[in-house]
Amino acid sequence: MSQPDSFSFDAIGVVRSCFKQKFGIPRQPGLVDVPGVIELYPDYAREEAVRGLDDFSHIWVLFLFHQAQREGWKATVRPPRLGGNERVGVFASRSMFRPNPIGLSVVKLASIECVPGSVRLHIRGGDLLDGTPVLDIKPYLPYADALPDARGGYAPASPEAVCEVLFTNRALEVIESYRERLPELRHTITALLQYDPRPAYQAGGVEQKAEFAMRLYDFDLKWRMEEEKALVYDLVPVEG
Ligand code: SAM
Repeated sequence: MSQPDSFSFDAIGVVRSCFKQKFGIPRQPGLVDVPGVIELYPDYAREEAVRGLDDFSHIWVLFLFHQAQREGWKATVRPPRLGGNERVGVFASRSMFRPNPIGLSVVKLASIECVPGSVRLHIRGGDLLDGTPVLDIKPYLPYADALPDARGGYAPASPEAVCEVLFTNRALEVIESYRERLPELRHTITALLQYDPRPAYQAGGVEQKAEFAMRLYDFDLKWRMEEEKALVYDLVPVEG
């Protein structure tokens, strides 16, 4: 067999999302109803290129795991759904660390904003890091893409919410101060932390540390794990 071909692609746009670092991002789309935007780059930001797309409720987003590019790839990975210990083939996973770091997410298309020279797709439910390069967008076709009888291997159903999320008064005061700009903030934080984003070896295993922080929007969300409950105790604004 000849040497595999290699190709180069240009990103057609970029994701703007509330997730400013990888830790804490939902592991698949549709788990947390967060807003996001796909901004098309000028060459592609043409109204006619998205004409008819708003007749579809969801879109497939093909993107680059731009913050997971490593030298080389491993044939097996350890999916969190298997507790982070058991290995499966990389092609039997949705891992970011793959021969070609290409991601595939189906997200809700909330609206399309077109002004001359700018096309912004408002999406919801993404599992996408802010700044993710977008390679392609396609309409989700329920007749072809929705396969309710398909077998889901080691991930047959949506992950369970595994922990209760509580807030200190201090955290509630800060969340209240964001009400104007981020009315859904408390709901978003609860939806994110109920899946316990800790690495699998920490969740339910030996507690390596009890305090956690994730960058969300323009603040660091801080929480402690206490007996499988997530206690949110602060949201610390981040400059710049
Ligand atoms: N739904 C996609 C798929 O199946 O190809 C992504 C699944 S992957 C398990 C989801 C994780 O990718 C997120 O939890 C986040 O940590 C990571 N991620 C999202 N955007 C990324 C990016 N631009 N670079 C690297 N990792 C990213």
